[in-house]
Parts: sequence; C-alpha cells; structure tokens
Amino acid sequence: MKIGFIGLGNMGGPMAANLAAAGHEVVGFDLTALMPMGVVVSRSAAGAVSGAEVVITMLPNGAILRAVAAQVVPVMAAGAVLCDCSTVDVESARAVAEQAAAAGLGALDAPVSGGVGGATAGSLTFMVGGPAQTFDVVKPLFDIMGQKAVHCGYAGAGQSAKICNNMILGVTMIATCEAFALADKLGLSREKMFDVVSTSSGYSWVMNAYCPASGIGPKSPADNAYAPGFAAELMLKDLRLSQQAAEAVDADTPMGAAATTLYARFVEEEEGRGRDFSAMLPRFEKRGRG
Ligand code: NAD
Repeated sequence: MKIGFIGLGNMGGPMAANLAAAGHEVVGFDLTALMPMGVVVSRSAAGAVSGAEVVITMLPNGAILRAVAAQVVPVMAAGAVLCDCSTVDVESARAVAEQAAAAGLGALDAPVSGGVGGATAGSLTFMVGGPAQTFDVVKPLFDIMGQKAVHCGYAGAGQSAKICNNMILGVTMIATCEAFALADKLGLSREKMFDVVSTSSGYSWVMNAYCPASGIGPKSPADNAYAPGFAAELMLKDLRLSQQAAEAVDADTPMGAAATTLYARFVEEEEGRGRDFSAMLPRFEKRGRG
C-alpha cells in the first residue's frame, strides 16, 4: 500500500518503520523528528499524503490533528482513508471524521495502548472508531503495527474506549499506591501485601503486571528508578481528556476527577514531570494525612 505518515515522534517513528519493513511504501512528514529507516521524507504534509491510499497521523493533541487534517483532507485521493492514531478529545476525532466524510474520504480514530515498547515491537492494541468497511481497509496495517485491533463502533468510539480505559488505569494506580503507603505505616511488608492482593479481590493490572513498588512482581518502571514507562504527564493528558468528555455528556466521574486533580498536582507542582505515573508511590510514602 502507499501510505502517508504524519507525526513520526516516539510512537509514530517506530510504527512507520514497521510498516516500511513489511514492504509498504511509506512517505513521512514531521516538523522535527528524523525519518526512520525505510521511510521516504516529504517536506510537507500535503506531499506526504499525495496519492496515498491510507494516511496515518500520530500527533500530540486534538488542536494539532485538526490543523493537519485541514491541510491534508483537501489533497487526499478520493476514497483514501485518514486514520488518526493519536490520543485526542472525542470532539476533535468526530469533527475530523465529518470533514473527511464530506470530502469523500474514509476516516478512523484509532488510538493505541502499549507505549513506545509496543510501537517498536509491533504489539500495540488499537481501539478503533469509524465505519466497519473502513476498518477492514486498514486492518492489515493494524496487524503489522499491533497485536490486536478492536472495532469499537462509530466515529469517536476508539477515543472513548481509550480515555475510559486510562481513567480506570489512573484511578487504580492511585488506589494501589495509597494502599501500599498505608500498608507501610501499618507495618505490613510489601512482599506480603503483594502476595495477598495479587491473588485477592484487590488485584489489577497495576498490581499484578506493573507493580509500583520496586523489587516486587514482574519488572516494572519502579525497578528502574521510575523512569517512564508511561510518563505522569501523559497520564494527566488522558485524565483531562476523560474529564472533558465527561463534562460534554454530563457523566458523573468523581474518582476520575480526583485522579485528574492529583496527577495535575504531581506533574505541575511536585516532582512528577518526566517520571513514570507509578512514581505516585514515593509521593504517598512521604506524606501524612495533613
Ligand atoms: P511525540 O511528541 O514524540 O511525537 C509527536 C510528533 O508529532 C513530533 O515528532 C512532532 O514533531 C510531530 N508534530 C507536531 N505537530 C506536527 C505537525 N503540525 N505536522 C507534522 N508533525 C507534527 O509524541 P508521542 O509520544 O509519539 O505521542 C503521539 C501520540 O500518541 C499522542 O497523542 C500520545 O498521547 C499518544 N500516545 C503516546 C504513548 C506513549 O507512551 N508515548 C502511548 C499511547 C498513546
């Protein structure tokens, strides 16, 4: 396939490289990032998408996605598909899908889970919103870049799935970290805490696969001085998107709101920026109730 790829940063770079390595013709455009092996450089977004059957975007946020879509939609070939893999607000995803449909193009919102490791290994999970027949066109590319692609429904459904998942993840991380800090003060060893909770009703992906306490469970960022992993500021971005969506549809999300406030404080006022989101545990360790 002829693929245009816009946004070749930490995630987009390895994703584009995997497509090129699989034999697709990939033309890339980025404002700053270097092109990975096998990807042909374009000097403009319009140049990267010209003649492409599928255009993939992997950009920082919804405002940038809208700006890039405004540049590329008018020059994309009739019947081509615009597939955005960035994590953005549901409203921007829907607006871009409408704009593409009005121009006779297919559109998908297809955010990912799996981080830079998953992008490099080609083991991402894609959560996809848009028409089923458009999903089928891009599915072979999802299969190269990832291990699983779930068609979640209408436009915006991929972003909806992503932010709901990450709201659960943020809340669960905080709950797990505060429980470890409480256990410390109660004199319970972390090993025993893990041993019990990981096989009891408090278990979760955070506890069992990504334990925020070092030296316990499978290797995690806690064992690497909390280098990310999944940085606290990216968790904050996703939590804010969840609260923006909740406000738009009048959903009551008190735990999501509390997690957003706590990660905002951690990233913007404490020392959370640049650390893995599980570094909430050393934060709680140092604190009392006051
Ligand atoms: P990044 O900042 O490394 O990459 C974004 C790239 O977009 C940069 O190289 C930047 O130069 C480029 N860019 C910005 N504006 C542009 C424009 N107008 N035209 C062309 N290129 C432009 O970010 P990332 O970590 O690769 O994340 C990309 C997206 O994936 C984000 O939406 C993020 O939330 C999501 N995501 C990231 C992770 C992760 O672990 N990093 C995990 C899941 C999802």
